[in-house]
Amino acid sequence: MRKRFGEIMGFHEVERTGQKHFDVLIIGAGAVGNAIAREISKNSQVTVAVLEKEPDTAFGISGRNSGVLHAGFNNKPGSFMARLCVLGSEGFEEEAKKLRVPFKRTGKLVIARYEEDRNQLLRLKEQGEASGVKDLRVVEKEELERLAGYPAGIAALWSGMTGIFDPFRYTVALAEAAFAQGTKFYFGRKVVAVEQGFVITAKNLVNGCMERYSSRVLINCAGLSAGEICKMAGSGEYIIHPCRGEYHVLDRKDSALPEMPIYPIPNEKEGGLGVHLTPTIDGNLMIGPSAEYLPEGWDPEDYSTTLNVMDRLKTEGVHLLPILEHAACIRSFSGIRPKLVSEKEGGYADFVIEESKKVPGMIQLLGIESPGLTASIPIGRAVAKTAGEILERLPSVSESEQHKLISPKPSAIPRTVQMEKGDLKMLCRCEGITEAAVLDAYDRICSIGAIPSVKGIKNRTRITMGYCQGSFCTINLLNVLTQKRGMDPFELLWSDFGSYLLEGSVRK
Ligand SMILES: Cc1cc2nc3c(=O)[nH]c(=O)nc-3n(C[C@H](O)[C@H](O)[C@H](O)COP(=O)(O)OP(=O)(O)OC[C@H]3O[C@@H](n4cnc5c(N)ncnc54)[C@H](O)[C@@H]3O)c2cc1C
Repeated sequence: MRKRFGEIMGFHEVERTGQKHFDVLIIGAGAVGNAIAREISKNSQVTVAVLEKEPDTAFGISGRNSGVLHAGFNNKPGSFMARLCVLGSEGFEEEAKKLRVPFKRTGKLVIARYEEDRNQLLRLKEQGEASGVKDLRVVEKEELERLAGYPAGIAALWSGMTGIFDPFRYTVALAEAAFAQGTKFYFGRKVVAVEQGFVITAKNLVNGCMERYSSRVLINCAGLSAGEICKMAGSGEYIIHPCRGEYHVLDRKDSALPEMPIYPIPNEKEGGLGVHLTPTIDGNLMIGPSAEYLPEGWDPEDYSTTLNVMDRLKTEGVHLLPILEHAACIRSFSGIRPKLVSEKEGGYADFVIEESKKVPGMIQLLGIESPGLTASIPIGRAVAKTAGEILERLPSVSESEQHKLISPKPSAIPRTVQMEKGDLKMLCRCEGITEAAVLDAYDRICSIGAIPSVKGIKNRTRITMGYCQGSFCTINLLNVLTQKRGMDPFELLWSDFGSYLLEGSVRK
């Protein structure tokens, strides 16, 4: 069989001459990195690039979570977590509109099943009010039943500011907005070394070459690998304790109830909010997440789901909503919290968002677990401000200026799908996804420099997310990309590098 990208160079390391210079380099194209890039690139005088090891954006934890816009009552008043979450929640209608991301302020219920849980509701309410969270009240049994649609408990904390949104489309939209303002994205670039200055070495996972980038400001928002990047840069010893959260996804027909997230009373020690029921913005119901610390030395990106946890989730889900006993699970997935506290310590540590004392000019973000998605836009604003101050403080680097890339600003990605003959053909029966939608997603992936994959197209359109989980539509997707975009079918990835959809032909 012929060789495909990645295999061509045998992944041996080739030093390339020349290095690309930017004012600001960001490591990680998750929601946080993209939100930062979007804020900084609003200033057209500043050149910004994002290095991402995966083929596309939203392949890290930004695409593996509950998709809840938190109100901020779960976090300690005065912490970054609480302050940035409240800001993120309050301004979200406007941002969702600008980014064209589906969002619903559904409200949320934290259920007290027994009288002795009532104090916990009051504690959460007081904690939220101390952080300025609006629209919090304790509701009694009758009102709870009316809001939840079933007799869920003896009382609950109602949070009117909580909502749900699509984390995939949100993260992609942030990247597209940053790109339209001039941010350059380099996908498939794994940062492997950081030298002072900043000179960054990244391995190009498509061709195996080593590439060099340099910048005046370096921003580390590498999620689960942020501790490793700090170590490379000599900017501090941070241990990330990966804590996995697994989910069941139910078919839409089983998801009639409830219309808002339903949470249990959180267990303070556990480091999660407890197994909850969350309707997605598209109408599925998710049960999860669990909270299991991965053993030391384990792959920190092991996104497996496990039988015992799946069974437990089902039991806990049924506890919250008995009719789930008969619900059909169509998929399972997991996300991993980049926690700064160990299992033994338990609970939460606050986000670390700071300019490194050891390596001035480097801004590091660690422990961005929940509510990091909700807080991502305010995080972006705060980091952009610090980056601006650093750039003003630093003398302009004339030598670097000479090889600065003067790249023409890309124009905004067109938002209207260009119709071609046959475009309305249905490719995905379960979700009603047309050829036009798939082609549009493919073109958008290519336009920001990402590498096409089924997962990337799924994240933008929902193809393969329905009841059949891709058994009907994956082949349709492949055919349309081959026929209408001339894509080599052997190049299409399922998700990450090496996960080719096709391995070879059975018949010639
Ligand atoms: C189970 C779970 C549920 C959650 N639920 C919610 C919720 O409902 N609401 C909410 O607000 N928040 C929630 N969160 C938190 C939220 O998902 C995260 O805080 C947020 O997505 C963090 O974004 P990020 O950009 O920091 O990380 P990521 O999305 O992981 O981005 C980091 C990126 O860095 C890249 N990278 C890593 N190493 C390198 C390298 N060496 N070179 C180049 N690139 C690199 C990774 O590939 C990745 O794409 C949840 C999290 C989990 C785990």
